[in-house]
Amino acid sequence: MAQTLKLTQKLTGQMTHEPSRVSNDSEITVPDTDLPQYAGHPVRFLMRYARNRAFPHVMVFGFVGLAVSCAVFSSSSIRHLVDTMNQHKAGTSVRPVWIAVIWLAGIIAVDNLSWRVAGWYAAKTFVAVTGDVRRDLFRYLTGHSTGYFSDRMPAALAARISTAGNASFTLESLLAWNILPPCLNVLLSIGLMISVSPLMGSVITALAFTLAALMFRMARGGKKLHSSYAGSAANIDGEMQDVVGNLPLVRTFGMLGFERTRLAGLLDSEMAVRGVSLRNMEILRLVHAVLTAILTAGLLVWIVWLWQVGAATVGDVVMVVSLGFMILHGTRDLAVALVETVQHTARLGETLSTILIPHEMHDRADARDFPTPPKGEVSFQDVVFHYPTGPNVLEHFNLHVAPGTRVGLVGRSGSGKSTVLALLQRQRYVQDGAVMIDGVNILDLSEKALRGCMSVVPQDVSLLRRSVMDNIRYGTPGASDDDVRAAAEAAECTDFIMALPEGFATEVGDRGVKLSGGQRQRLAIARAFLRNAPILILDEATSALDSESEHHIQEALHRLMQGRTVIAVAHRLSTLKDFDRIVVMQKGKIVEDGSPSELERRDGPYREFLELQAFDIPDL
Ligand code: ATP
Ligand code: MG
Repeated sequence: MAQTLKLTQKLTGQMTHEPSRVSNDSEITVPDTDLPQYAGHPVRFLMRYARNRAFPHVMVFGFVGLAVSCAVFSSSSIRHLVDTMNQHKAGTSVRPVWIAVIWLAGIIAVDNLSWRVAGWYAAKTFVAVTGDVRRDLFRYLTGHSTGYFSDRMPAALAARISTAGNASFTLESLLAWNILPPCLNVLLSIGLMISVSPLMGSVITALAFTLAALMFRMARGGKKLHSSYAGSAANIDGEMQDVVGNLPLVRTFGMLGFERTRLAGLLDSEMAVRGVSLRNMEILRLVHAVLTAILTAGLLVWIVWLWQVGAATVGDVVMVVSLGFMILHGTRDLAVALVETVQHTARLGETLSTILIPHEMHDRADARDFPTPPKGEVSFQDVVFHYPTGPNVLEHFNLHVAPGTRVGLVGRSGSGKSTVLALLQRQRYVQDGAVMIDGVNILDLSEKALRGCMSVVPQDVSLLRRSVMDNIRYGTPGASDDDVRAAAEAAECTDFIMALPEGFATEVGDRGVKLSGGQRQRLAIARAFLRNAPILILDEATSALDSESEHHIQEALHRLMQGRTVIAVAHRLSTLKDFDRIVVMQKGKIVEDGSPSELERRDGPYREFLELQAFDIPDL
């Protein structure tokens, strides 16, 4: 116990109020304020990210361009070689033939090398873009208010970010390997073809463009199908995670069969949508295959006929046939790539529309820090507040808490106590009036300043699926392992932590399921010890403890509260008996305010509560 005291004094003695570390701004590719404009504009969104890494993108697409040009010109070099060989029969000077061979070999070498250079840059750049996209979307998503998440399935949102990363990688790859090459191929081949036979060139140009336009129209027609598939696939992910995450609840109520049938129904409709989307693509491929077969046969007959009447050389035949194939196959590749592009664009677009809706409120551009280290004065001035749905919860609510004062909020369920704490933490925004800390409106404070000045021990303690050590350290990243151990000791956690399989290194399970409610609460108290902020918010901080544990922890809490402003909500009034002030709330209004002993003497709601609890809890 003496050691506990010493460690606690060490912790509470150093009231440095160090702000927690925030993300490094240099990691931001596109700022939050710019992101909402890309909701529903996946192509512009991707272009923005490509521009941020302009040089490697230019290298990728430049070398792809060079490689494709070489491939096209190799067919004219083949023509040159064939014709030169025809002119210089064996026995005469064959030097020009060898020059033609070297030229062709050089072109083939540049062609192959260029692909590799493009591939090298793409391997690094396209992957980097997926990182940029996911980092920015995660940052933006986590900037949304509490209300945003309560309306949507958080698990599905997280899955969507990965989908967006994959979609951007696939789109860039499609553009580099499947769209740009056939496009360039077709254009350059047409140019070459026109140089041999303007008539044939013009005819094939007209046909190629008609074919491409037809393919594109059909591909675009499928866009809606692909979007609805993307939507229902993301939805299924969310539903599955929701059920798996709540399996104990599902089992308790015997709803396993119901959930399985429900999911089967959802899967059926998703598969139906996907089937239609894929069949649409197959129809597209079929149309193209038939048209290409007919056109290639026609081209072959035409050029051989020209050769027959002496209007074309053998070299011309070879070149036209290879260019013809290139053009027609080019349009097919293009069509298939376009369909895939449309699908992935739809997927990316769906994610962007869901995540990039404007934030309810930003950290203002002129958001500031406290001019001096905060002392912890809290005041609610004429606050009016209601949730998006429902009547006013607080009406003209006024409360002033001097620095270092301990105030207990008491009142019946639904009287607005948690709401007051949520407003102080800026989880929700007041409709009128202001919440001030040290005379500064919390709306003017930067996120860093606001979070840095308070620590919270909530009723429902959230823990991350990390070690006990990391969970206590959460919010104070600079703390050493010894500091964490000291905080755990101060919050009377050491005994149960050491009994865990791996002590401080034990992983606590999803949301902390491997610990009891009381243990989770004690970890949260240790976390608050370590954070050492001037304002301490306790929302039913000891509700999950039995009377004996509570008795133990009261002492620790008492030390934690020393020298801090404390605002505590507690149903168990014994927790508040040493407080400076008790504020009794009723339907969003303060009906009593005074020291516990004062209120105990007064014939009012507080004494009523006390009398009621005297029957409930005999050890009070
Ligand atoms: P308890 O003692 O049960 O925790 P409380 O005093 O903390 O109650 P609050 O949670 O502040 O009560 O709720 C005050 C009122 O606001 C209640 O009428 C409640 O129905 C309403 N309310 C709370 N949260 C929401 C929400 N997210 N959306 C709409 N109304 C809400
Ligand atoms: Mg509450």
